[in-house]
Amino acid sequence: MTPVSADTEAYDAHALDALRASLAQRPPALLIDGRWQAAASAAALQVDAPGDGLPLAHIAAGDARDIDLAVAAARRAFRHGPWPRLPATRRAALLFALADAIERERIELARLESLDAGHTLRSILAGDLALGLRSLRDYAGWATKIAGETPAQSADAGAMDYFLREPIGVAGLITPWNAPFLMVLQKLAAALAAGCTAVIKPAELAPLSALRIGELCLQVGIPAGVVNIVTGTGAAAGRALAEHPDVDLVSFTGSTAVGRSILAAAAHSNLKRVVLELGGKSPVLVFADADLDRAAAAIVAEIAFKSGQYCAAGSRVYVQACVREALIERMQAAMDRLRVGPGHLADSDMGPMISQAQRERALDIVGHSRAAGARLLRGGHALPGPGYYFEPTLLTDLTADMRAMREEIFAPALAVASFADDASLDQVAALANDSAYGLSAKLWARDVGTVHGLIRRLESGQVVVNGGGGEAVLPFGGVKQSGYGRENGHVGLSAFTEIKSVRLGY
Ligand code: NAD
Repeated sequence: MTPVSADTEAYDAHALDALRASLAQRPPALLIDGRWQAAASAAALQVDAPGDGLPLAHIAAGDARDIDLAVAAARRAFRHGPWPRLPATRRAALLFALADAIERERIELARLESLDAGHTLRSILAGDLALGLRSLRDYAGWATKIAGETPAQSADAGAMDYFLREPIGVAGLITPWNAPFLMVLQKLAAALAAGCTAVIKPAELAPLSALRIGELCLQVGIPAGVVNIVTGTGAAAGRALAEHPDVDLVSFTGSTAVGRSILAAAAHSNLKRVVLELGGKSPVLVFADADLDRAAAAIVAEIAFKSGQYCAAGSRVYVQACVREALIERMQAAMDRLRVGPGHLADSDMGPMISQAQRERALDIVGHSRAAGARLLRGGHALPGPGYYFEPTLLTDLTADMRAMREEIFAPALAVASFADDASLDQVAALANDSAYGLSAKLWARDVGTVHGLIRRLESGQVVVNGGGGEAVLPFGGVKQSGYGRENGHVGLSAFTEIKSVRLGY
């Protein structure tokens, strides 16, 4: 694969060196009430580059004291500041200006994200950056279209009853490291379009693009206190935000285990609203009438995307028995073509994993499944050298109880099982639905009856058929233990609003 020509300038070694040098100089600071300031503890956390394991930057180690300050600033900005009271057209204009500012420096932002999260520049430019901008502009458009309803009969006799949609208030946004730029921008765009103010707690393993988004918010004129950013660990800063009694909503993307604790914190504090985008173990169903070349290429490309650290990645493949060998052969060939290396190099198709701990966890799941009888056809090992690289991995001969079939590996590892040629749609759906998760399901088939029959049967927030269509901002979110609530578009925006019913007599 070669980079899209328009973005070849992204692969500039001098620019990367200059960026690393400037990150090393960056003072650790939190954004609170429009000002960059040290954490109350004055402590800092080191952020390493997953591509080589070397230190990249230091961030402020925020804790409950900083969260208190940030929430107070956000509350003041909500209660007394201009943001929720601005004409919606003005809020929209500022969000469009933010999108333009991000677009102007998309190459530099992609380099930052690639160094910090490890992903390939190509995937960030074509994926996270493009999708983030699309989502931000989409939300900017929705800012002027937030509406309540007026039942027609309420005008009887001169009275009028209706309901309003108002911004919910102070939103806590807690985000993961696997798509740090996109997760922060999507949540922030929804919060701001709705007229909320926000406190962002980015992932401590890859927080740098969030800080740059904060700088750009100030630069385009979003008022002080509307966007606050408290970096720090989940245990210190994240937990304090989830427990805070003056936060009205927490929108969280991350693991199911932490999602549970966020829900418990909401219950024990002020019953704040909670949106949870959690883990997945997405099934891929491949039928004999599918285009096997396309299916194999897409399945491998998806597990290589973000080195498998992608919540919706199809990681459990169920293939119709008669095409099992043909599909596996194609997947192996596609895996063999993958070039693994630092994300900022033009000839890398797949970057490193985020950390040694994540890599160890993946190795453990693969090792455990092999010990239980799974067959390793490709990979399965860490790659030597600096950085946290993992071989593209293919496991077969799996049974439903093996860890590789049940747990979110979050690594470039595919587990392949099969279903009988004469299996009914109910039986195939039962295999796919045999999971605690329900974030995404992929289906490769041409028969319309198979496609529609399975769409109805799959327990999943999303079904992607034959690679999907082109719409990027459909509602996104899961069922079962993949969470609840949806992001994107007016559905995502509505989570950041509250309904007020008005019974207006005369
Ligand atoms: P994580 O749950 O460990 O951390 C996510 C965020 O929560 C981080 O900012 C972390 O600091 C914070 N956090 C940790 N403990 C906390 C606590 N007790 N209270 C409050 N905040 C706390 O997840 P991760 O490892 O950063 O991300 C990977 C996970 O995210 C995977 O499970 C993946 O599937 C999921 N994910 C889901 C989606 C989706 O849209 N459904 C998207 C991306 C990632």
